[in-house]
Amino acid sequence: MAFYEKDVGTLIDEAKLQARIREMGAEITRDYQGKELTLVCVLKGSTFFAMDLARSIDLPLTLEFLGVSSYQGGTETTGEVRITTDVSKPMAGKHLLVIEDIIDTGLTMGFLLENLRARHPASVKVASLLEKPSRARTKVDIDYKGFVIDDVFVVGYGLDYAEKYRNVPFIGVMKGK
Ligand code: 5GP
Ligand code: MG
Ligand code: MG
Repeated sequence: MAFYEKDVGTLIDEAKLQARIREMGAEITRDYQGKELTLVCVLKGSTFFAMDLARSIDLPLTLEFLGVSSYQGGTETTGEVRITTDVSKPMAGKHLLVIEDIIDTGLTMGFLLENLRARHPASVKVASLLEKPSRARTKVDIDYKGFVIDDVFVVGYGLDYAEKYRNVPFIGVMKGK
């Protein structure tokens, strides 16, 4: 029995995740033909998704990692975001695809887009594995969206509960929470 089985139930299983990610990769491959793509992976939650997505994009690309931490006002983000690890190269003139695990209130992505646009990239688009539209507080256009989910707290496939459960291989929900 896996370590998480008594705590985590399945919401989106591995087969469904991988099939959708392959579709997203194919779409991104079509859209970025002839362009040099930079994936900007938002630490830590998006890393599992980003690595699988990168493998399903049939184009040369470069990887950058951006760490953010949001100030919490009670249980949810205040939208005040701090960059804890910055990308390693200038973003000017590049075609950026920001990779996120989940867009909840949208405040984190709103901040990130504003911050990245100020660095004069050639373009900026967003890929998010999950979206919780019922919680949106600011409008974020998600160019490539994996799944729309209800307002439930999810873990696994990169997403944590108190830093744990990121290595659960599917999107799950905490039992009894
Ligand atoms: P937002 O600024 O859109 O409200 O928050 C985005 C961040 O909050 C996500 O990148 C993620 O780190 C965290 N988050 C939002 N909803 C969930 C959830 O259901 N589960 C987990 N583990 N993290 C979440
Ligand atoms: Mg995230
Ligand atoms: Mg987290």
